[in-house]
Amino acid sequence: MRAKIWGCRGSLATPGEATVRYGGNTSCVELHAPGGGLVILDAGTGIRALGHKVHANGARDADLLLTHLHLDHVEGLGFFEPLFDPEFTLRVWGPRPDGGPLQQQLSVYLSPPFFPMPFDEIPATIEFTEVERDRWTIAGMTVTTAPVHHRGPTVGYRLEEGARSMAFIPDNEPGLDPESGLELAGGAEVLFHDAQYTEEEYKTRVGWGHTSLPDYARYVTAAAPGRAVMFHHDPEHSDWQLEEMRALACELTGRDEIELAHEGMSVTIE
Ligand SMILES: [Zn+2]
Ligand SMILES: [Zn+2]
Repeated sequence: MRAKIWGCRGSLATPGEATVRYGGNTSCVELHAPGGGLVILDAGTGIRALGHKVHANGARDADLLLTHLHLDHVEGLGFFEPLFDPEFTLRVWGPRPDGGPLQQQLSVYLSPPFFPMPFDEIPATIEFTEVERDRWTIAGMTVTTAPVHHRGPTVGYRLEEGARSMAFIPDNEPGLDPESGLELAGGAEVLFHDAQYTEEEYKTRVGWGHTSLPDYARYVTAAAPGRAVMFHHDPEHSDWQLEEMRALACELTGRDEIELAHEGMSVTIE
């Protein structure tokens, strides 16, 4: 299993000189199954550049696993080049949002006045499946979902192939539910998890659906992943602030190998 990060910023895309090292694009991770299938986790702004690569490689289909429909997780989808290829099929998996079916709610965003083209005119075939607490197989990988604590229906993912495993939980608030998503994260080879706020910031953001550093440290200690990768960086955090946060996370967990997700980061799970 190989994963590559195309976006790891949370909340809002944040280009600029203060975010060059870790990147300003929002949530998107490419995952290659050993069987050759392409799985994409979230469709934040990072999916635009991934789309060029997918198109250039001549891929005919992909599976897109959405954690939820907050804009930082879907706003790149309309700019994913394969959507304009009538031969391409995108299978979209995600939780049923408040207010209606996944397909209907996502097509609101991919239609005027938010998007230039009506959803029905997008050339690619787009298929939708709603998931909540489910397990199924994609390209030889077992995919497991479970709801996590966030604002609105949100899931996390665990992907497994033999003994290899990866968990993706970009938005989660274990401060209000310490067990949230642990069934997915527990013992994963690699854990990408929300690490958005400092302890001080979290005091005024309780209930916003994200993780403070002390809660992150407790969560990582409970989940005990092989590699812990801090994800969903706050738009207000510069590269050097993120590095300070990483140092603090190492101190709090007693693990000196906590990592910061960055755009272009490749992770091989073996
Ligand atoms: Zn988010
Ligand atoms: Zn969110």
